[in-house]
Amino acid sequence: MLCALLSDVHANLEALDAVLKDVDGRNIQDILFLGDAVGYGPDPNECVELLVERCKVLLAGNHDRAAIGLTDITYFNAYARNAIEWTMKVLTEKNKEIIGAWPFEKEMKDEDILLVHSTPKEPAEWHYLLTLWDAEINFQYFDNKFCFLGHSHQPFVIEKVPSGELITHRDGTRLREGSRYIINTGSVGQPRDGDPRACYAIMNDGDIDIVRVSYDIASVQDKMKKEHLPEPLIERILMGK
Ligand code: ZN
Repeated sequence: MLCALLSDVHANLEALDAVLKDVDGRNIQDILFLGDAVGYGPDPNECVELLVERCKVLLAGNHDRAAIGLTDITYFNAYARNAIEWTMKVLTEKNKEIIGAWPFEKEMKDEDILLVHSTPKEPAEWHYLLTLWDAEINFQYFDNKFCFLGHSHQPFVIEKVPSGELITHRDGTRLREGSRYIINTGSVGQPRDGDPRACYAIMNDGDIDIVRVSYDIASVQDKMKKEHLPEPLIERILMGK
């Protein structure tokens, strides 16, 4: 099986386009989306529509739920909240309805994969899986060989080998018999690991790869300025932080 896993597009159409172009050059069968189509960026409707057209599975992220009024945004920082309020205004009713139907998790039994936006332990609670300790706990909450997730915008592969030891891989890894994996696919539209290039993951029978793709950041920044989205959000996509 050769599939691409995308998360945290955040209404960044230029980044999404660049990633899809990269995917199309690799003869990949299925594209799976792990949530947060909207929030932060200037093209929420276009991103939702393109993701629906291209992805076999689509999950809801916290920003998606917030943009349709179904997640409390009082815990969002002021910039994220501002962007969500703008997103709520511009999203079409049809796209709100589409987002409202997206689940929090999806198990693909044949492929032995669990997909979530935040954590396998509580997929609808928007906790972050950041440390090896978080991973250790979360490995207890799914049975599959693979769990793919997003949410923190920081890509990694954490492998649990049969002896129980956890190993972190930064750019991907060769798959091993008996190991289980938690994979953060990074963020397409707003990376936060210091590399501003769009990020996604590819899985095939033998490996998982974290892939980076350059895109036209300046053009997204221009659109964000035009919509008066918060300045720090405009700056951060150039820094990848
Ligand atoms: Zn996100």
